[in-house]
Amino acid sequence: MSLNLTTANGLEPATNGLEPAINGKEAANLHDLSEPFVDNLAGQLFLNEAFKIIVEEIDPFSFMMRLFSFLSGHPRFFNQLFAGVDYHALAGRFLTEALNTNLYTYEVAPVFVLMELEVLRGLRQLVGWTEGDGLFCPGGSISNMYAMNLARYQLFPEVKSQGLWGLPRLTIFTSIESHYSVKKGAAFLGIGTDNIILVKVDDGGRMIPEDLDEKIKLAKSQGAVPLLVSCTAGTTVQGAFDPLDHIADVCEKHKLWMHVDAAWGGSVLFSKQHRHLMKGVERANSVAWNPHKMLTAGLQCSALLLQDTTNLLKKCHSANATYLFQQDKFYDVNLDLGDKSIQCSRKVDCVKLWLMWKAVGSSGLAKRVDRAFVHARYLVEQMKKREGFHLLHEVIPVCVCFHGQPEFVNVCFWFIPPSIRGKEGNKDYQDRLAKVAPVIKERMIKEGTMMVGYQPLGNKVNFFRMVVFSPLLSQKDMDFFLDEIERLGKDL
Ligand SMILES: *Cc1c(COP(=O)(O)O)cnc(C)c1O
Repeated sequence: MSLNLTTANGLEPATNGLEPAINGKEAANLHDLSEPFVDNLAGQLFLNEAFKIIVEEIDPFSFMMRLFSFLSGHPRFFNQLFAGVDYHALAGRFLTEALNTNLYTYEVAPVFVLMELEVLRGLRQLVGWTEGDGLFCPGGSISNMYAMNLARYQLFPEVKSQGLWGLPRLTIFTSIESHYSVKKGAAFLGIGTDNIILVKVDDGGRMIPEDLDEKIKLAKSQGAVPLLVSCTAGTTVQGAFDPLDHIADVCEKHKLWMHVDAAWGGSVLFSKQHRHLMKGVERANSVAWNPHKMLTAGLQCSALLLQDTTNLLKKCHSANATYLFQQDKFYDVNLDLGDKSIQCSRKVDCVKLWLMWKAVGSSGLAKRVDRAFVHARYLVEQMKKREGFHLLHEVIPVCVCFHGQPEFVNVCFWFIPPSIRGKEGNKDYQDRLAKVAPVIKERMIKEGTMMVGYQPLGNKVNFFRMVVFSPLLSQKDMDFFLDEIERLGKDL
């Protein structure tokens, strides 16, 4: 059986698939934002057929479902870091549900075990590792927790049997703009949220390696044992990429586990043009990557990737249950992946990615990533032409190095309603500005026209975070977005 992801008929081989070939016509296609990227019509027909079958089966609920659920597959759903539908992945999701099996043993999921291994191998290859380990986890948050647990086990293997009893105070370093799951992980694993040391970021939201170095030294001088640095590749709000190469130097110097939370940004690894954002990732010990975000593989699809070849994952988590993982089975019992996991039952999350990857190839996924950047740039250009849109990164001098563009596909901005335009000097300006985004959001939800997220950040009051990566998105939707924000906010 051949499950090689990278040599599907007619697709570019992707071993160096870090370098997908894009010819002139395709490149032009990439920049034509007037149409969605995937065949929306064919996909919609497929969806209608499938939905009809589902609705016929569960008719009493269908009315409620349509009324009370929202459609994350709609091109104007910009609320989260997942959006859009990939119809190949969707077919994989139907298949997974229909077959309803469990990834813990090879005997109940033979082909899926092999698929998971292949998909993980393919993802590791993009990171730059020819060997290693990994696991699909129920989300990036859990992947981040795994990394912490592995780092601790590597340093203090006795923790598995003895617990926290004999351990010194351990500390974890992460930037102040990292994802909140780092905090949750520290609480869950008994490390303690007070032992998360927040490292400063530059104006673009990237961790400052010099501050990291200082803080590690300080922690050591206070008798703590520095354990792990959790870097972020694509921060949740600003989309910033921590400078991995420099952080790797610091981790090497102090012998710390380097984890990269690339839940959001990991997909840039497909793109020849943009993978430089994660330069140095190959020096990490572990990487968390959510293909359910930018690649639209569907919730959920989240991989933990490890450089380790010493079977750390299994040593750290195994319980050797004899009723499930019998050692005298007739096949290679190393194919029973389940004991690497902290779970017993584990959902099959690899098929949807495998199928989509097979269908469009590494070069197809690369084009989607490239296209998302083109979308983000288009949006920024349009905002600059309109009065009332004020980009977050424009107030940040350092961003000149990105030619006035945001680093990733997160476009953060304030909408300044006419009533406060030009009144930045007023005492109540920030208070009034802070109230704008929540009201516009309430209005858009009640009218059902679109959905986009907002948040405050540090000393910056509520601003919108627009993310543009759905393959269903076209220029028309982005123009609509801008018009709609203006319409909903003009009287504020
Ligand atoms: C989304 C995200 C996570 C959390 O992933 P889940 O799959 O939602 O648990 C972690 N880190 C970053 C940077 C994220 O953007």
